[in-house]
Amino acid sequence: MVELKNVSVTYSSGVDALNNVSLKINDGDFAFVVGSSGAGKSTMIKLLLKEIDATSGVVTVNGYNLNKLKKKKIPEFRRTLGFVFQDFRLIPSMTVYENIAFVLRVIDAPKKYIRKRVPYVISLVGLQAKSNSYPDELSGGEKQRVAIARALVNDPKLIIADEPTGNIDPELSYEIVELLKGINDCGTTILMVTHEHDLVRHFGGRIINITSGEIVFDEVIGGVNEA
Ligand code: ADP
Repeated sequence: MVELKNVSVTYSSGVDALNNVSLKINDGDFAFVVGSSGAGKSTMIKLLLKEIDATSGVVTVNGYNLNKLKKKKIPEFRRTLGFVFQDFRLIPSMTVYENIAFVLRVIDAPKKYIRKRVPYVISLVGLQAKSNSYPDELSGGEKQRVAIARALVNDPKLIIADEPTGNIDPELSYEIVELLKGINDCGTTILMVTHEHDLVRHFGGRIINITSGEIVFDEVIGGVNEA
């Protein structure tokens, strides 16, 4: 669950990046966040990851009040979410399997669990045949599938995807959103930032539009693929 209550962010430069934003995303929801460059989307994501703090207002994510979250609790909080970057951020010297297993190794997950969980998430994203490949042997769409598997491996309540289709071919973008939708169907909340209006129109669902630091639209629309 994500909740912003009257949240404003003013950077030290004096720029008001978010202005009195209120928003609630319930567990199990899928929401697109759209808005032009400079609208405040990245600022909102940084708030949700507790990379920055709100200047005023209350931010709650997965039951953690981020205003009050102590520094030493931040890693525990971050493990409740998965993050997918536009530029994949895979480790080039590691195979698909190792890139995903790495996430569990750093939190000292039992080896037996890693050996079971990693192939499972690889199969969820349909990359069984690429398990031993290195990132530079994969297409953009495949790299993003690995990144999604990596975000999933901790079984997070929430996945935040920041322009996940920004660096892949348009036709593969649909597959990536389909994959995220399938993950959402299994109960994970998904927040996807995008500027690709075609995708949003195609899939429909909840659309949150941020313009100049304010939410100017927050509604559920029908997609073109709906019967
Ligand atoms: P978006 O992700 O929608 O492109 P941002 O959240 O990055 O928008 O930016 C919102 C506003 O805040 C813009 O005017 C941007 O220039 C400004 N901004 C973003 N980051 C910083 C920063 N670290 N310091 C000062 N201003 C910033």
